[in-house]
Amino acid sequence: MATVLIIGAGGVGRVVAHKCVMNGSTFDRIILASRTLKRCEEIQGELPKGAIEIATVDADNTQEVIELIKRVKADILINVALPYQDLTIMDACIATNTPYLDTANYEHPDEAKFEYKLQWAKDQAFKDAGIMGLLGSGFDPGATNVFCAYAQKHYFDEIHTIDILDCNAGDHGYAFATNFNPEINLREVSAKGRYWENGKWIETEPMEIMQVWDYPEVGPKDSYLLYHEEMESLVLYIKGLKRIRFFMTFGQSYLTHMKCLENVGMLGIKEVEYKGMKIVPMEFLKTLLPDPASLGPRTKGKTNIGIVAEGLKDGKKRKIYIYQIKDHEECYAEVKAQGVSYTTGVPAVIGAKLMVEGKWSGKGVFNMEQLDPDFFMEEMNIQGLPWNVREMEC
Ligand code: NDP
Repeated sequence: MATVLIIGAGGVGRVVAHKCVMNGSTFDRIILASRTLKRCEEIQGELPKGAIEIATVDADNTQEVIELIKRVKADILINVALPYQDLTIMDACIATNTPYLDTANYEHPDEAKFEYKLQWAKDQAFKDAGIMGLLGSGFDPGATNVFCAYAQKHYFDEIHTIDILDCNAGDHGYAFATNFNPEINLREVSAKGRYWENGKWIETEPMEIMQVWDYPEVGPKDSYLLYHEEMESLVLYIKGLKRIRFFMTFGQSYLTHMKCLENVGMLGIKEVEYKGMKIVPMEFLKTLLPDPASLGPRTKGKTNIGIVAEGLKDGKKRKIYIYQIKDHEECYAEVKAQGVSYTTGVPAVIGAKLMVEGKWSGKGVFNMEQLDPDFFMEEMNIQGLPWNVREMEC
């Protein structure tokens, strides 16, 4: 039994709060804290009276987080604020010896670049504090790393190639909207692509490489090569790996809008002068776009995220596809959130549950594939993310 402190009351925070309540035998006290109390109040109002407590915190300020952790006596902290807050929250966890979990790689607000370097650099401090930090416990990163570890453990002696395939075939009826924080999403998608082959990173122009993949229960979709953070750790931990790539589906309307916004400078992250004020175009754009949390009741269709791994087992070639399909409307009915928030929030709760139960333990910072995948895969089936494995022709 543990007191869990959740920071961030956005789309993902909502799912985490709901799911922690559903896992009351693990999390007996739940505190949801965020920058804006109103967001916490809305989520609190959706849950049974007394199920969660709420608080405000500016997580950019380590001292504020330290004080909050001490005040509520948190046993574990789930960070589902923005990637900008990862380091300050990790520092607060180190200062208070509190186990830490997040779903996204640290990013500096002024540079659209994400990497694990600064989070991995805290490994020794986590060890010295005697605590575990679990990095990237969402879906991708998160479940996709676990799928790779599961493939390595049960299906291969050596994995040679991995393609991570992320399809959101949800339709929210808006001409343009993003399924999670617009700023983080657009920074990721408009950046150059990158994949890893024979020990080297190869850079591509944004959306330069496309393949059509036939997603089970969704159908064929244009899937574009992007750089995605789980590849940075997977190249270290998957034996014999020769190539890893990440593909995500985008509809034509999304791509046309994004290109147009980019061409007119609306995706800029540097300040510009407007009527004597300094504004960041991307931050301004965020205020105009639909709040991802508001997409929940309007989104129909499915997500399908998985990995295709190829390699050798007992000297023979083998290729398998591990994937998870989730229906947006089902997610909304269960936790009042669309599928992208759901498929991120549920793995965060699973990671925290395994840490609280001691099934995943250790001192230092860990990426998901470093831990035994079986517990996580089992919990996915229980917590609403059932998965499939398909043998494919090599
Ligand atoms: P939202 O923008 O909907 O929510 C973020 C929340 O964090 C908001 O409530 C926001 O507060 C709060 N917040 C922002 N800054 C601070 C701060 N300084 N102090 C306290 N609270 C703060 O984002 P999502 O819920 O869509 O995403 C949450 C996280 O999940 C992100 O890091 C995202 O990158 C990650 N993610 C991971 C995925 C994965 O598969 N691994 C997939 C999708 C998302 P306010 O309401 O005041 O703005």
